[in-house]
Amino acid sequence: MRAAIFHENGGPEVVRIEEVARPRPGPGEVLVEVRAAALNHLDLWVRRGIPIDTTMPHIGGSDVAGVIAEVGAGVDHGRVGERVVVNPSLWCGRCRECARGEESMCAEYRILGEHTDGGFAEFVAAAADRAYAIPDELSFEEAAALPISYQTAWRALLARARLRPTEDVLVIGASGGTAIAAVQIARLAGARVFAVTSGAENVRRLREIGAAFVYDRDVEDWSKAVFRDTGRRGVDVVVENVGAATWAGSVRALARGGRLVTYGATAGPRVEIDVRVLFWKQLEIIGTTMASRSEFEEMLRAVVTGGLRPVVDSVMPLDQAREAHERLEAGGQFGKIVLVP
Ligand code: ZN
Repeated sequence: MRAAIFHENGGPEVVRIEEVARPRPGPGEVLVEVRAAALNHLDLWVRRGIPIDTTMPHIGGSDVAGVIAEVGAGVDHGRVGERVVVNPSLWCGRCRECARGEESMCAEYRILGEHTDGGFAEFVAAAADRAYAIPDELSFEEAAALPISYQTAWRALLARARLRPTEDVLVIGASGGTAIAAVQIARLAGARVFAVTSGAENVRRLREIGAAFVYDRDVEDWSKAVFRDTGRRGVDVVVENVGAATWAGSVRALARGGRLVTYGATAGPRVEIDVRVLFWKQLEIIGTTMASRSEFEEMLRAVVTGGLRPVVDSVMPLDQAREAHERLEAGGQFGKIVLVP
């Protein structure tokens, strides 16, 4: 089968299209014929060599949608031909965290496509119980846009930041897939959404998906603007994924009792915090990553019950995997970049 593979870490130029052996589904696994696979920032980190415990040579791709082509031992043969989207989360299933349904806190937590070969290929093997029927409402490209971004935003807002209807949410860096997911999920939860992005086109598109206030970071000081537009109160929740470049503004934008939830550091991991502000304003700084099994399933149900529709930036052939890496790295996208074999 054809796959986008790299044999060494580095820039987008290490990604090559090669003929490799088709994986075989092990016991409890299905072989998915990939119809669409979305890129994540995770793919860039893995290609660059962070984390270091990936397989090499490596096929990336954690967000996969396709059709079940074969099943391994112990899996119902009736599933062959089923349209599925894969939850890329891997966990041990035996520890205390797994037992209480906090799979993303499992010490052995891994991600398909990061710690194993993924879906930037014609086929990928996945655990049968992580392959979910795609809601009829979604195309393969839309389904592939869901798993990482939408489960991450779902957990960040609803479980970790405990977002309530009527609250104000500020989403930073709101042209990336997960930040857009956060805007949509916050709207679905009944919150009022503020967003920071750059460029007039992104401002327009964020308003279109329901953000009430959108700030162009190249044009205005957004943390001051948030203060103004909330009647000098600040927001209840800030969703952070940028890190060093935006952290101070994000903290400044919080109301008393506000919660800052972070799942990324695309522009630098080291930040400062004034402890006096932390206790005096009674703030919470909350980390989050991925989601539990039940949160993933709730998110998938919201496609049907809440009309959640992932935003696809562009669809490119698998042969252009390198160009797709370059496009994501350049940061000009709005929503998910999807590869089709
Ligand atoms: Zn576990």
